[in-house]
Amino acid sequence: MKRYATFNEELRRRFGCRVQRISLDAGLTCPNRDGSLGTGGCSFCGDRGAAAVGVQIELPLAEQLQRSKNYLAKKFRAEKFLAYFQAYSNTYASVEALRKLYATALSDPDLVGLIIGTRPDCLPEPVLDLLSELHAKTYLWLELGMQSMHDQTLAAINRGHDHACFVDAVQRCQARGLRVCAHLILGLPGETCEQILASVRELNRLKVDGVKLHHLHVLKGSRLEQAYHRGELQLFERETYVQLVCDAVELLDPRIVIHRLMGDGRSELVAPDWSRRKLEVLNLIDDELKKRDSRQGSRLSK
Ligand code: SF4
Repeated sequence: MKRYATFNEELRRRFGCRVQRISLDAGLTCPNRDGSLGTGGCSFCGDRGAAAVGVQIELPLAEQLQRSKNYLAKKFRAEKFLAYFQAYSNTYASVEALRKLYATALSDPDLVGLIIGTRPDCLPEPVLDLLSELHAKTYLWLELGMQSMHDQTLAAINRGHDHACFVDAVQRCQARGLRVCAHLILGLPGETCEQILASVRELNRLKVDGVKLHHLHVLKGSRLEQAYHRGELQLFERETYVQLVCDAVELLDPRIVIHRLMGDGRSELVAPDWSRRKLEVLNLIDDELKKRDSRQGSRLSK
């Protein structure tokens, strides 16, 4: 048993079997890249817009699903799957186009739900109507990038929205009963550990349902890559990250499901090198929580 609420446990409790996420690239884009809001994207975003490693973007959606399903069923003995619309902003299209995309995924009988990743400024009311409709029929998570609660940081990373925009999006989703998982990056340029932990406390205040913590990494093709090569970017050492994640877990409301404690090692990774060995880092986090004899939320009452 982990010392924090994991997404795997949540899925096993709900579906009674191993459920795997299938990462998809639906061929959408993002307003922070296509020119309607900006062109350069967030400074940490690589060429593939947060697409997972191994996603075959050239394939139609149904084929991406089928191939991944076969692979994951064999590798993990998974019986059920969630379609994870991960790359770019997956609510940034017309309602009709989105309806078709989501329906393609849900037409597979082994697909038990959807995870839809997007930006907080890509949730107009007609899209929320569609998501509410899906939420009534299937197991649905909406992943929203918060990244930081500090507007100065959001401006520095060219995020293209402020924290008030994220708060508004969360509240509009919550008013419809949608499950919200927030993304938070630990180690953004210029942020102190105290500022990062303030963002963690903000997640409690907002009563989000889930969180994905991510270390800051540098990807090929990102704006951060140039800063990194100029020697202007400081990245966390592995030990600092482990300590900070444990601090964050201790502060996090135990009701919040932790979908992820660090990002994946990716083929387009430039740095930090330690993040290529994710399992090692996750084990160190477990060991540190054990050493502290603490768990999710244990610093909440202090
Ligand atoms: S991180 Fe997401 S929101 Fe930012 S530019 Fe990339 S796809 Fe767009």
